[in-house]
Amino acid sequence: MTLGPAHLRTRLTLWYTSVFGAILLIFIVAATLLLRWQLSSELLRYEVQDMETAEGLLYFTPTGALTIDQRYHNSLQDEMLVHRLMQVMTPEGRILFRNPRLGDLPLGGAPFPREGFHVYNPRTIRLANGVPVLLISHIHSINGKTLLIRIAYSLLPVEEQVRISRDILVLAFFPTLLLAGVGIYRLTLKALLPLEKMATAAEQITADQLSRRLAVENPGDELGHMARVLNGLLARLEASFEHLKRFTADASHELRTPLACLRVAGEVALEKHRSAEEYRETVESMLEEVMRLTHLVDRLLLISRADAGQIALNRTTFCWMDLVQEAVALVGVLADERLQTIDISGDPSIQVYADRYVLRHAMLNLLENAVKYSPEGSTIGLRLSRRADQMAEFSVIDQGPGVPEEDREKIFDRFFRSDSGRARDAGGDGLGLAIARWAVGANGGRLGLAAMETRGSRFFIQLPAHQR
Ligand code: ADP
Repeated sequence: MTLGPAHLRTRLTLWYTSVFGAILLIFIVAATLLLRWQLSSELLRYEVQDMETAEGLLYFTPTGALTIDQRYHNSLQDEMLVHRLMQVMTPEGRILFRNPRLGDLPLGGAPFPREGFHVYNPRTIRLANGVPVLLISHIHSINGKTLLIRIAYSLLPVEEQVRISRDILVLAFFPTLLLAGVGIYRLTLKALLPLEKMATAAEQITADQLSRRLAVENPGDELGHMARVLNGLLARLEASFEHLKRFTADASHELRTPLACLRVAGEVALEKHRSAEEYRETVESMLEEVMRLTHLVDRLLLISRADAGQIALNRTTFCWMDLVQEAVALVGVLADERLQTIDISGDPSIQVYADRYVLRHAMLNLLENAVKYSPEGSTIGLRLSRRADQMAEFSVIDQGPGVPEEDREKIFDRFFRSDSGRARDAGGDGLGLAIARWAVGANGGRLGLAAMETRGSRFFIQLPAHQR
């Protein structure tokens, strides 16, 4: 669930405006603090300068009272002098002099240890009348007497100036924020427009219009990238839809032929009265066709489950030669019928990590094909070897007709049968190699047909060899 406004542009505007507002506020606070620091530093500089001037102007009257020469005027410091607050004490704290502007007000409390020695100890205090001042202290000697001089200036003008600047900034804050908000909204609107267009175009693409593509307006930016990604997705969807359509059409076609045979066999049998023997023959041939159909439906189911990713593999590590023997035991009867010899050779120590059942399925398919397509009395060679690239390889070599160059890859397509295999008596449905290739691929291996210089074919299965 998303919280807040539904439109992305509103959310983005709110988000960016808030961030901008926060940055603006931080800027105002920082600018105010900086201004105060700058004005205070300037004041301090004047004060230190004034301290030196005042020290030069202090003198003891013949009666022993301490006073200051008021006649001195420096055009630069005129105004400063008017505002100067000054108090002179003994280092023990006895007040010797306060200038008229300070009057009776104490300027700071009792002296603290080493106050004004070599440094000015600048500090901010509040006078008894509440006025904040910047106070500095300095030790000075006149006629051999050590004096602690304190000079202060009111911070009220500084604060006033800071307040005015802050008020101006705060006043400008809201219109600036509003302007920024409008600007960001318009910008987001413009930036998101291609997205809206893309969504509208995508909405109009239905299952039967998968060949349509989205317009890629700005190939270089993120939205252009997204359009290309979506177009890629559409292309893949179109391909799998096509694949599915072809598969359904091929499967229906394959199912139609045995069903038609069944119907014709039944109709012919019922045309006239027949003997029990004839009925038995018809039923037998019908049963054979039903078995063929069942086998086909089983394979179709296996393919659709594999396509849907519903087949969970149970992979274990085992000796591949054991599985070769197992497969030969199952196919041996068929080979015996055709007086074929199966010659096994190879490294019995090779181990692989795979689903035994699924891999055996693929191997059986290669073996059955070899038996089916090789001439009677020929030899079928099974080889198990370790390749240089850490792969283990199982090959089935037969002395059959081989596969024409142009059909080398096609034989792995679903429902493909080359002309020699198309004869129904071979009993093929063109699904065996497609299933076998899936089975080997699911186990991380590769199934292929090697190029042969002599007659016959060599089909191979390569799997990563298990390293002990
Ligand atoms: P089928 O059930 O028709 O054998 P396959 O997918 O197993 O289906 O094989 C597809 C086609 O590949 C076969 O129709 C045949 O033409 C060809 N083929 C497969 N194995 C061999 C082989 N050992 N020798 C010659 N052709 C083969």
